[in-house]
Amino acid sequence: VAQPDQFDALEDLGVAADVLAAMRRFVADADDADLINIDPLEFADHHGLREAPTIDAFLHATRHGLFDMAWNVVCPDCGGILSEAVTLRQIRKPELGCSLCDRTYEPDLDASIAVTFTVHPRVRAIRGHRPEEQGVMEYMRQHYLGPTLALPRGAEFEHEYAKFTRWHGVLPPGGVATIDLEIPGGWTIVQELQLHAAAIVELTGARADERRETTFAISHAGMTPSRRTLPPGPHRFRIENRTDHRALCQITDANDALHEMMGRRKSYLTGKQVVTNQTFRNLFRSDVLDLDQGLKLRNLTVLFTDLRGSTELYDRIGDLAAYDLVRRHFGVLGEVVRENDGSVVKTIGDAVMASFPTPVGGMGAALAMRSSMAAFNRGRSDDALVLKIGMHAGPCLAVWSNERLDFFGQTVNVASRVQSIARPGAIVATAGVALDEHVRSLLAAAGATPIPHQATLRGIRDEVTVFEVPPAE
Ligand SMILES: [Zn+2]
Repeated sequence: VAQPDQFDALEDLGVAADVLAAMRRFVADADDADLINIDPLEFADHHGLREAPTIDAFLHATRHGLFDMAWNVVCPDCGGILSEAVTLRQIRKPELGCSLCDRTYEPDLDASIAVTFTVHPRVRAIRGHRPEEQGVMEYMRQHYLGPTLALPRGAEFEHEYAKFTRWHGVLPPGGVATIDLEIPGGWTIVQELQLHAAAIVELTGARADERRETTFAISHAGMTPSRRTLPPGPHRFRIENRTDHRALCQITDANDALHEMMGRRKSYLTGKQVVTNQTFRNLFRSDVLDLDQGLKLRNLTVLFTDLRGSTELYDRIGDLAAYDLVRRHFGVLGEVVRENDGSVVKTIGDAVMASFPTPVGGMGAALAMRSSMAAFNRGRSDDALVLKIGMHAGPCLAVWSNERLDFFGQTVNVASRVQSIARPGAIVATAGVALDEHVRSLLAAAGATPIPHQATLRGIRDEVTVFEVPPAE
């Protein structure tokens, strides 16, 4: 049962009223299965809500103890959840293996980390809070398959599951199951879901009429054997649970139905979207990452601003007045960054460093910064603040540095250098930003034509092509 007083507290924090109403109803009425690993993007879509305020609402609600947030490392190939970390700093393994796909991956925040929310037991108890009591199919649907897949629900999932599953069962510690199967050929997978242990069995060659027995042993190290080639025909599979906890086992055929389910991809809330989210930065300030952790981002858009002639400004109007003006301009830029789904990483003197999940977020913010500053300056022509903006997109590391979530790498250096060559009022971007198709549409719609030219950036050996959006008239 929902606790209205807890949700009321969120309203006072500025969480959007329509999202809050939908969230309150959902927590009260939804099936248990829908309250585990909620993807805010799917929630927004399902309830006809805007994404940004929905993400904000889930972050606030988590901070208030109404939901638990999980950073799921998801297999890019099959969509299975390889590891469920409660916090960002728990994503430790440099490489994660998917035994089903027989591949290893280095987790990166863009493509293999999905952030989900599960209702807190204090708010509503659901079956998903006690996976140790769930059967194989329910566990598979709620804990194994990830938020990157558009999965059917309830009876429809059971129907789909039956199309590729030959057998499933729960084995007690030390337990053994004996399963007789007739396998005509192809690929069959023996799996234990909690350990992500799997044996991939290829049935090939001439059919053998005599029943053959094969033993698969589950231990904490995985499944032994992990691969087997057998002839088509009658088989007896013995599955032994050599662990000290119950094992959730299934035998599935790698058939079209399985591939079809794993191919149903949908958009989801990525780790990158969260680490570049201003609400996340504000609410989850401390100990987000370990000092030595460094998580990979494939493509982050980094924007820097600086002010024209701030030295003269301080000289002309004095430290106190100038400081006040600069501080208020930080407020304006911070608002613009947030509205474009980015976050302010830090301020350095009069400069701002901001991060965005996409190039179009960065360019949208840059254009809005210029118009917002024009409004800010109105009626103050003497001490008008004029921005010089630069940005670049590329791979970098998310790191914990100087008590904050920061970004590190050559992408950040280049973004800063690009800013340093911007004329007052201009926006300068590298090709990765300026030639992005969404950025091109945005600039075309704004009537701005980026002008390419070659530039030498301090500390960068080769000349680079940069694109300037000239100062607005
Ligand atoms: Zn996989």
